[in-house]
Amino acid sequence: MNLDTKIAIVTGAASGIGLAIAKRYADAGAKVAIADLKLEAAQAAADAINANHPGAAMAVAMDVTDESQVNAGVEAVVARWGGVDVLVSNAGIQIVNPVEAFAFSDWKKMLAIHLDGAFLTSKAVLPHMYAKGSGAILFMGSVHSKEASPLKSAYVTAKHGLLGLARVIAKEGGPKGVRTNVICPGFVRTPLVDKQIPEQSKELGISEEEVVKKVMLGQTVDGEFTTVDDIAEVALFFAAFKSNALTGQSLTASHGWSMT
Ligand code: NAD
Repeated sequence: MNLDTKIAIVTGAASGIGLAIAKRYADAGAKVAIADLKLEAAQAAADAINANHPGAAMAVAMDVTDESQVNAGVEAVVARWGGVDVLVSNAGIQIVNPVEAFAFSDWKKMLAIHLDGAFLTSKAVLPHMYAKGSGAILFMGSVHSKEASPLKSAYVTAKHGLLGLARVIAKEGGPKGVRTNVICPGFVRTPLVDKQIPEQSKELGISEEEVVKKVMLGQTVDGEFTTVDDIAEVALFFAAFKSNALTGQSLTASHGWSMT
């Protein structure tokens, strides 16, 4: 599968899963914009990709919860490369707490990053995709788009919500050649997950080792973490797929943790 001549924007691509997707897309021939809150890290990621594929990457400063920053970032990519073929709305954070202790401000922040971010970035790229009559949008869901876990009310709510938004855009965009799908990873060892291990250990009153073995990997078929490269392959597959046959779907990659 290749992405030759395609232009991609990946949000949250200065780290973790987004970074692996950006690298994989560049390896597959795409031009890729690394859009992230952290501009220095985004620039470093773009420099690393450009060292292997000259001119293939650019860094874009973007807070996905801010409409004007999202629009300016997308316009910067269109000004440089002439359009957008692929959006991966991936930026995300995690905040864990039981509902009764979950700060309302944290709830709103979580929904803003995951849901407003997906909405605003989609809204900004769709006119460019419609103008070309083609495009692929991917949302980074989670096993938590389909399952619930204690302490993760805002995350589970937001990740479930992405399935609905993806299906609506699939229906609106289908006649105009735009496909929209959701990737649902299991636990992937990134900074987002590393931060949760001591937090969950404290909240649940179990050791960090038990958090990893029981809470994170206990329901997988083999006790293995999903990797950033696994998710990058799925993201390539969805982006490069040639027809509208694959739209409005979600694909779970979680070592069998969730089988729905
Ligand atoms: P990560 O912390 O390694 O990377 C997240 C990136 O998003 C960071 O570079 C951060 O700067 C950026 N970001 C945060 N808020 C932003 C904002 N408002 N605007 C722009 N960028 C912002 O995390 P990750 O594990 O790679 O997570 C990426 C996505 O994958 C998230 O949506 C997460 O929910 C999802 N996910 C992760 C896992 C996992 O186990 N790691 C599992 C399922 C889904």
